[in-house]
Amino acid sequence: MSTETRDIVVVGGGTAGCFAAATAAGEDLDVVLLERKSEEEGGHIACGDAIKGKSTFPDVIDRDYLREESFTNENIQRAMFMNPKGENYDIPFQGEYGAVIDRKRYGEVLLEEADRVGADIHYNTVIKDVVQNGRVTGVTGIREGDPVAYEAEVVVDAAGALSLLQDKVDFEGTTYDTNVDYSQFCSAYREVIETKEPVEYDDAIVFKPTDELGYLWYFPRTDREINAGLGFQMNKPPMKLVDVLKRDLENRPEFRDAEVKDKLGAALPTRRPYDSAVAPGFMSVGDAAGHVNPTTGGGIPGAAKAGHWAAQVAIEAIADGDVSESALWEYNRKVQTDFGQRFAAMDLYNIFGSAHEVDELTDVVTALPGEMIIDLMGKKGETSLSLTEKLTTSITTLVKTRGHWRTLYDAYKVGQLASQLKEVYDEYPTTPDGFEQWRDRRDAIMDEVYEVTGAEPKY
Ligand SMILES: Cc1cc2nc3c(=O)[nH]c(=O)nc-3n(C[C@H](O)[C@H](O)[C@H](O)COP(=O)(O)OP(=O)(O)OC[C@H]3O[C@@H](n4cnc5c(N)ncnc54)[C@H](O)[C@@H]3O)c2cc1C
Repeated sequence: MSTETRDIVVVGGGTAGCFAAATAAGEDLDVVLLERKSEEEGGHIACGDAIKGKSTFPDVIDRDYLREESFTNENIQRAMFMNPKGENYDIPFQGEYGAVIDRKRYGEVLLEEADRVGADIHYNTVIKDVVQNGRVTGVTGIREGDPVAYEAEVVVDAAGALSLLQDKVDFEGTTYDTNVDYSQFCSAYREVIETKEPVEYDDAIVFKPTDELGYLWYFPRTDREINAGLGFQMNKPPMKLVDVLKRDLENRPEFRDAEVKDKLGAALPTRRPYDSAVAPGFMSVGDAAGHVNPTTGGGIPGAAKAGHWAAQVAIEAIADGDVSESALWEYNRKVQTDFGQRFAAMDLYNIFGSAHEVDELTDVVTALPGEMIIDLMGKKGETSLSLTEKLTTSITTLVKTRGHWRTLYDAYKVGQLASQLKEVYDEYPTTPDGFEQWRDRRDAIMDEVYEVTGAEPKY
């Protein structure tokens, strides 16, 4: 078996892996990125292709080039919620517009860019195991049919949802989060569809509730190329995704005689980020560490940031000659005090939802005035109402939501607990020593969440 020695080995050539590799190579480290797909297939990933927060992509690749090549629709001004029982809701985007991308081209450009700044990319390389001796020292696998081994100071696990590497590492004596279960994931499927005529919602990302706490979406890459897909929570009975999507599309005039250009399915985490994603010589990033918004499924911006931060921390640790858990810990802190706290808070709404039937939640949403929904979601809206309108709205709402007051009150309490949770995440410890105490504080809030919602414990 041939063995290569590098500073950093990155497993997985998606968003997280490319940003990790580009960051390390940009600082002149010897880095190899290992991707199981061929070069032609590289970047082909199941995704809804919608991005909010593109300006937060780390500046280690040519972002203008990425944008020119793959941002096919930069005019997403609103999220539209299609309500099967009543009025649709528009949530206008504040500040920066969102975008929908050509996901394959986006993935190709990231790989090109990682290569351009100096990372080696080995395609057709399937990693099957890790090498460890008190710490992770490398990986082994098959490259173009032959066994291969890579030694490194740090292995970055960017192998996506349900990463195989985590099953192989001995995490005994570390704080790495192993409280991971399939029920904390969502199974999703999407098609890219070319319509005969332009759609009316090319300035919106469109969502629609489905059974089993899932949602169906239409994200317009252009006014005639639509990414349509859906998913369901794996703690619910399985849903026939392909059939459900087919039925939905058949009922919509804009998809009549449309052509399906691409189909792909995948799992994605709909859980809070891993409490700790580091172990000696090992760091997990992106989907491999649960870095996805558990209510929207948006994982691209989190993966990009996590890959970048992990590499930054690894570079420093390698320079200091110490790749222990403590030396890599700062990466955890960066994640948890940034998008980690937000995603952990959003997870509470996911838990709240799991304790209610979709039908009931739709009834509640239907009974609430649009302005109030926008307000509940933390956007402006209610301020646009006059005092008289507010009073009228409140009285009408009380009457319409009769029978759901308990649910609304519980939602209100979950909102309060979400705020408390964010504060705890803001105080994520600076070293592993404070971890257990921090986790106890967080878990006390989670106990209250389960009590208020009546939901089964998710973790
Ligand atoms: C259907 C669907 C719709 C989504 N919609 C959106 C959306 O609209 N907006 C958004 O922001 N996010 C969306 N997401 C989530 C987003 O796609 C992910 O969060 C993001 O791609 C995560 O990037 P990643 O680099 O962590 O993992 P991935 O992109 O999954 O990359 C992992 C890479 O690792 C490789 N790999 C895996 N195992 C091995 C191995 N053993 N050896 C070598 N290589 C390996 C894979 O081939 C792959 O290239 C969606 C996800 C799904 C499934």
